[in-house]
Amino acid sequence: MTGPALIRCTRCRRELPEDAYGNHAGRREGRNNECKDCARTRRLAYRHTDVGRAKHNAANKRARERRSAA
Ligand SMILES: [Zn+2]
Repeated sequence: MTGPALIRCTRCRRELPEDAYGNHAGRREGRNNECKDCARTRRLAYRHTDVGRAKHNAANKRARERRSAA
């Protein structure tokens, strides 16, 4: 058995090779085995929540302040 190890995504339930996963590749026992597609979808959806938007705006504001202070 030399083929790539397949990991089942906990969200879309597809079985994908390790490189379809982000930082968690290789950590097969991890609780959150989300493929890159699902992780991206979740990040984008999070942006559209109030909390996600607030964090995003706060990060932008900090970046602006850093630039103007320099
Ligand atoms: Zn997935």
